[in-house]
Amino acid sequence: NAYKAIQRDSTPIANLNSDLDDIFIYDEITIKGTASGTTFIEYTVCYGEGIYPDGWTVIHTSSTPVTNDVLASWNPPSDLEEEICSIKLMVYDSEGQISEDQVVLLINRAPYAPDIIGPTNGKPGVDYNFTFVSNDINNDDIAEYIISWDDDTGDETIEGPFPSGIPQTTNHTWKSKGTYTIKAKAVDIYNAESDWATFDITIPRDKAINRPVLNFLQSYPNLFPLLQKLIQKLGFGL
Ligand code: CA
Repeated sequence: NAYKAIQRDSTPIANLNSDLDDIFIYDEITIKGTASGTTFIEYTVCYGEGIYPDGWTVIHTSSTPVTNDVLASWNPPSDLEEEICSIKLMVYDSEGQISEDQVVLLINRAPYAPDIIGPTNGKPGVDYNFTFVSNDINNDDIAEYIISWDDDTGDETIEGPFPSGIPQTTNHTWKSKGTYTIKAKAVDIYNAESDWATFDITIPRDKAINRPVLNFLQSYPNLFPLLQKLIQKLGFGL
């Protein structure tokens, strides 16, 4: 490690735990190491995008020396543009000396919220196909799609892994009428979860609302003539 080579006994000690190097991270990580020295004043942990970052953002600064313990914790921001980030530790002393150490991390990115493809209306008791497809930002396989049908059946999981961007289809039947909001999310093989996507289906169609009256009249085609005869017999006329 070139950063360690510039350290001397009289200089502050900056040492990031080598376990951090090249690890794949998804959520918050604990950054461990040593920031100390006989003339120690403070240390700063920062991150930058890429292997040779153009700029650095401070994660944590402290005036308490640390020996082989927690220096900072870091949750990679969701708007990172690079899949690779560098973490840098800088240790300052009272002589104006600065020691530093640096590691490179691989940042896992979550899949995009899935597209949901299927009918927007239907009938109770009929099975309908729905297709779910998501792309993972760094092209990892999709481990599973998790689907909520907005009824009492609970979450359904389509288990993979599937290649990113390859559609998966399952079916569902709603027992009763209503408007249901289907929700789905994709999880990559490193357990990064997408946002929920939503899709509405209405069961049954709106124009079926008057069907009971139509059904009643169609079931009793002779009802009107019988009523007319009855009314005529009673002398009211029509
Ligand atoms: Ca990913």
